[in-house]
Amino acid sequence: MACDYDVLVVGGGPAGALAARTAAQGGLRVLLVDKKSELGTPVQCSGALSAGALDDCDVPADPEFIAEPVFGFLTYSNSGEPSRLDYRAFGRREPLGYVVDRKRFDRYLTRLAAAAGAEVWLKARVVGLARAAGAITAQIERFTDRCAVSARVVVGADGIMSQVGVMAGLRVAAPLGDIASCLQYVVENVETCGLLEIVTGHAHAPGGYAWVFPKGHGMAEVGLGVARDRTDRDARWWLERLMSDSFMAPRFRHARIAEVQGGGVPLSAALKQMVADNVILIGDAARHVNPITGGGIHMAMRDGRLVGAFLTEHLAVTSDCSRQALRSCQARWQAQLGRTHAELYRLRRDIFRSPDPAQQDRALFETLGHYFHPDSKYRKV
Ligand SMILES: Cc1cc2nc3c(=O)[nH]c(=O)nc-3n(C[C@H](O)[C@H](O)[C@H](O)COP(=O)(O)OP(=O)(O)OC[C@H]3O[C@@H](n4cnc5c(N)ncnc54)[C@H](O)[C@@H]3O)c2cc1C
Repeated sequence: MACDYDVLVVGGGPAGALAARTAAQGGLRVLLVDKKSELGTPVQCSGALSAGALDDCDVPADPEFIAEPVFGFLTYSNSGEPSRLDYRAFGRREPLGYVVDRKRFDRYLTRLAAAAGAEVWLKARVVGLARAAGAITAQIERFTDRCAVSARVVVGADGIMSQVGVMAGLRVAAPLGDIASCLQYVVENVETCGLLEIVTGHAHAPGGYAWVFPKGHGMAEVGLGVARDRTDRDARWWLERLMSDSFMAPRFRHARIAEVQGGGVPLSAALKQMVADNVILIGDAARHVNPITGGGIHMAMRDGRLVGAFLTEHLAVTSDCSRQALRSCQARWQAQLGRTHAELYRLRRDIFRSPDPAQQDRALFETLGHYFHPDSKYRKV
């Protein structure tokens, strides 16, 4: 069957943009679609990202999307005891990472994909998938019209609520206890110092942690994630409490909320099956988020590159895109990224397995402190 495209990428977040860019660089005919009219909005992310991640994924650290440089970490225990790790104290002058503006960042990445030759459609929602003669056809609602697009492979980079995964018959739902409900306020009038501040402990964010990130222009992001099976209260209750009734409260006395942002983060094991016939899931859709930090941008971009490169090689030699044939993509992911992901998931499970909340708090505080340490093998933002 002659297809309109080799690859249809669904979702213009970091995973989809990098997949589209890499596949287009490999000479494939690529269409990237996103249901949004403006990429990255509404914002559902704090945008903390290491300089190493940009480097690793061949994305220039462009002032176009950088909100604020980051030089280290300030981690607080349940009782508010701080542990400071400022890399400037080790003589480092270059930023360790950045808080990026996700609206600009997603648009930037998609521009890179378009520059590599990918076609991009906004306001285009995939609403159905059907397989025929070894290819796959997507029904797409584009503005007020509906059209059908055929491809050899659909890459589902459509986020935590992946409909591509559901339509392909993959088991994408994560256990409730493995989903963090996250809420953050972008605030004015809160002092920051070029560090990512992280508050651990059950008194502040049960099953997760709270954060204060520098946003630039005198702004900060104050937010938290809570595990949905560890509290009857919602994320908003815990965030209000952090800001008005915790050791941090004096800091927020003059805070003015400029934006409210939120969303779910999968802190779970990776999908057992990320491939189906003519379909590959990546990024949040495949639950490829760091289960300790909740950071998913780097993992999403790496997934995008891995899948783009895989498809370039695979489609050059075969037209077989059955689940069986695409399994080698999952094997490649497993070899490159899967072991580390599984290790981090086990670490998180061990931290929260203890029946004693004080023990959990200590373990999370120590783990995050160590995670960001220069000697850590996981060192990153
Ligand atoms: C509050 C919060 C804070 C976070 N902070 C950080 C952080 O500081 N650092 C970090 O690394 N990670 C952070 N994360 C996680 C990070 O945002 C995600 O892991 C990352 O965005 C995943 O990228 P993705 O490309 O897989 O999916 P997404 O960025 O979710 O992109 C999915 C895209 O698919 C599109 N889409 C969905 N369905 C369809 C459809 N049917 N048709 C067409 N398009 C569709 C959506 O519009 C969207 O643009 C945070 C998450 C939250 C909720």
